[in-house]
Amino acid sequence: MHIHDLIGIGFGPSNIGLAIALEEKQQRSKPLTSLFIEKQASFAWHPGMLLDHAHMQISYLKDLVTLRNPQSRFSFVSYLHEKGRLADFINLKTFYPSRHEFNDYLAWAASHFDDRCLYGEEVFQVLPETQGDQVSHLRIRSRDAQGAVRERLARNLVVSVGGSPYIPELFRPLRASRHVIHSHHYTAEISKHGGAKRVAIIGAGQSAAEIFMALHGHHNAPAIDFIMRARALKPADDSPYSNQIFDADFVDHIYSRDDQERRELIKEFWHTNYACPDLALIQQIFGTFYQQNVKGEDRHRLLRRHQIAAVRETSEGVTLTLQDLNNGHSFDAHYDLVVLATGYERQLHRGILEGLAGYVGEMQTDRHYRLQTTDNFQPQIFLQGACEHSHGLSDTLLSITAVRCGEIVDALHEGRKCPAASKLTTV
Ligand SMILES: Cc1cc2nc3c(=O)[nH]c(=O)nc-3n(C[C@H](O)[C@H](O)[C@H](O)COP(=O)(O)OP(=O)(O)OC[C@H]3O[C@@H](n4cnc5c(N)ncnc54)[C@H](O)[C@@H]3O)c2cc1C
Repeated sequence: MHIHDLIGIGFGPSNIGLAIALEEKQQRSKPLTSLFIEKQASFAWHPGMLLDHAHMQISYLKDLVTLRNPQSRFSFVSYLHEKGRLADFINLKTFYPSRHEFNDYLAWAASHFDDRCLYGEEVFQVLPETQGDQVSHLRIRSRDAQGAVRERLARNLVVSVGGSPYIPELFRPLRASRHVIHSHHYTAEISKHGGAKRVAIIGAGQSAAEIFMALHGHHNAPAIDFIMRARALKPADDSPYSNQIFDADFVDHIYSRDDQERRELIKEFWHTNYACPDLALIQQIFGTFYQQNVKGEDRHRLLRRHQIAAVRETSEGVTLTLQDLNNGHSFDAHYDLVVLATGYERQLHRGILEGLAGYVGEMQTDRHYRLQTTDNFQPQIFLQGACEHSHGLSDTLLSITAVRCGEIVDALHEGRKCPAASKLTTV
């Protein structure tokens, strides 16, 4: 069986950025053969949330390459130039393209690597290949859309699989219910619920806010309860000094802190990334409720400081028992549809790498995102997007993608040994 120098799991922005960094590095050094395996049938960037009025929450200059190589032909500006929209994009006077346009940019970048990416296969297991007492390669096992299992060998691995929808505990028994959807599947699922008259949106972040405005704008819009534990919808803090925590060189700082200081830092800046819709969106929502008030209607409700105490599925929908945290009162509310805008968890890599348990221990990574392994383990394994608590809040975002991919490609080429365990952090 052919042995690939590198297999990448997932072909989202992180591994597209890596494919580009590899190609640009290889113009200067020994080529490495690479293959990427992506479970979607074709490239799509969070397709379930490609809403018409959604915009990027990050400058287009934090594209796949610019911060690493401003001369790259894979920049957003280069994409605009090739599509003949550069002048008009300038006339828009914005740093924040629509999510549709950024998805198109990413698809354009991905299309340059069609010969290196297999779509429609989901990796479910990675196993060690041994020669004597040495692990020399990795066996990557995936399943295609027809259920057939494929196996490939690699010398190195980069796992960039993103997050999986976080379902709060009370809703887990209703995972299969057609009356409960996660924001991750919103665009695909909402069309099946055209007749919904009462909808609950759970969450206080960007996705919850975007879905509220999208649903409100629907023809025959349902009555919406926007339910959150928070006292207020708080905007993202994107002021310049706070934003510096997303700079690539901040990773050196945060990685070098001890565990407690790192935890405190992440907690202090939590609201720069989580549960923080854009200010403009919050203003639109406020305006919507204000106009409702002017008309003397009470169609939509903003249920702040409300906690869900119980969830019951009925034949027609879902009944939530809601507790008002201000006065302790509980009441039942019935919905045709509940939308969970409850974010993501980032544990997928653990399941995929379970078969390497004896070699990767507690999954500690070095500064270059490389897993620490036992001495008899020769392959290098890198994680992208799973190192937030060791490398900081930028890890799950696009902010450092370009630079991180360059760092991983350098580490891959140099094949440096991991530093001593004391300098590593667990992911
Ligand atoms: C709606 C939404 C909007 C966002 N907007 C922004 C923004 O404006 N700015 C920003 O910086 N960040 C944003 N983010 C954060 C987002 O995480 C990053 O933008 C980016 O998508 C991270 O890229 P990634 O490649 O690491 O992960 P993903 O984009 O999640 O890509 C992972 C890929 O791996 C594939 N995959 C997963 N498991 C397997 C498997 N077992 N086998 C094969 N393939 C697999 C998935 O199908 C997917 O294509 C947003 C996130 C969401 C959900």
